Amino acid sequence: MQFTPRLPKVSDIKDKVVLVRVDYNVPLSSDRTQVTNDNRIQASLDTLRFLIEHRAKIVLISHLGRPEGQVKPELSLQPTAKHLGKLLHQPIQFVPDCRGEQVTAAVSALKSGQVVMLENLRFYAEEEANDTQFAKELASHAEVFINEAFSTAHRAHASTEGITHFLPSFMGTAFATEVSTLHRLLTKPKRPFVMVIGGAKISDKVEAVVNLTHLADLVLVGGGVANNFLKADGFAIGKSYIQDTPADLKKKGVDYVAVAEHLIEETKPERILKDGYVPLPKIIYPTDVVVGTSLEAKASQIIDLANDGKVESDRVKPNWMFLDIGPRTIKLYQELINQAGTVFWNGPMGVFENPSFAAGTRHIAKAIAKTKATTVLGGGDTMAAIEQFGLTTEYDYISTAGGASLEFLAGKMLPGVKPLLEK
Ligand code: AMP
Repeated sequence: MQFTPRLPKVSDIKDKVVLVRVDYNVPLSSDRTQVTNDNRIQASLDTLRFLIEHRAKIVLISHLGRPEGQVKPELSLQPTAKHLGKLLHQPIQFVPDCRGEQVTAAVSALKSGQVVMLENLRFYAEEEANDTQFAKELASHAEVFINEAFSTAHRAHASTEGITHFLPSFMGTAFATEVSTLHRLLTKPKRPFVMVIGGAKISDKVEAVVNLTHLADLVLVGGGVANNFLKADGFAIGKSYIQDTPADLKKKGVDYVAVAEHLIEETKPERILKDGYVPLPKIIYPTDVVVGTSLEAKASQIIDLANDGKVESDRVKPNWMFLDIGPRTIKLYQELINQAGTVFWNGPMGVFENPSFAAGTRHIAKAIAKTKATTVLGGGDTMAAIEQFGLTTEYDYISTAGGASLEFLAGKMLPGVKPLLEK
């Protein structure tokens, strides 16, 4: 299937009023005056500079937090407008509403190359309800729409989906780069394609893991997620963390350990190298782990889970938690990452916040930084881990879109992406 992002040409935007959906849902200081992390604002700058350079009249729209249809002054976008002004070295006019006469007046006074920002879209319930009238009203101020907020593309809201019915609509550069990188991962990854998966919660990534397991040549599992696979394979895991399956899924007969069991069964005959030198199973989980009695434990101990092919899990004490992958597992994962053509990594290999259980994540982060493979990372905690190790600049692509990336990787066509592709 063709997958070509529709990007604006100069002739599409020159001297026109362009409505740009950005994601300025950024953390603010406790007094709500300063932006404390501006990654998302930085991500929009290429598109904004392109529009300013080519003399568009720019109207920015965004959400911040979850006001749920109420005006909440502490969720005003005003501090982000001030911050953006500093980054662009030009004043940004802030309109304290996103509909009504104030907006019409501010937009009609706009000159080419100038920027106005409207107040939080989610102060109106119509935004998240994808209300047609609201979308039409937003569209009525502009001649062109650009979406530069991939992180909200999994939601059909008025500013992500509804509006595209009323204006010529395009992707921003950061949006297009993110969606194209993820699309390439799904359709033509350089092989072997190695997926490294960890973290504690499996709920938000289970669909992406299932989809990618079919596409990947090899899945290396660590972190709390590995406990699901170890348990599914019959290992004793003491009181290691396993996320509870929510009741509504359980009712449908879904259980995370059962999902792991199913994946293990389904992928058993797979082999990593097509020429068959290394007959590894497709899904690999730890053969040794670092255990402690709590997440905060100072004391740790390395436990071999398998010895000469014989499971020694009966040695696992009931009060132990598996909190990191062990040295033998690290070595194997390093070798496999080294041979990869593509690596996708989501989720730390252990409780990296505690130095006693950080080695697995650190070694794997370094191995992924060093490999010649194309490397794509995702997930807030993966980001926190590479920041802790000072490795943030060592990867090809860091996806920051959270839920939207995971839904896309689960193989879903997102409502905010579909209208922005060439037909
Ligand atoms: P997630 O949000 O699912 O990516 O999970 C990230 C969190 O998983 C981090 O805060 C880690 O401390 C935690 N984590 C990683 N490995 C384990 C483990 N084996 N047991 C419990 N928590 C873990």
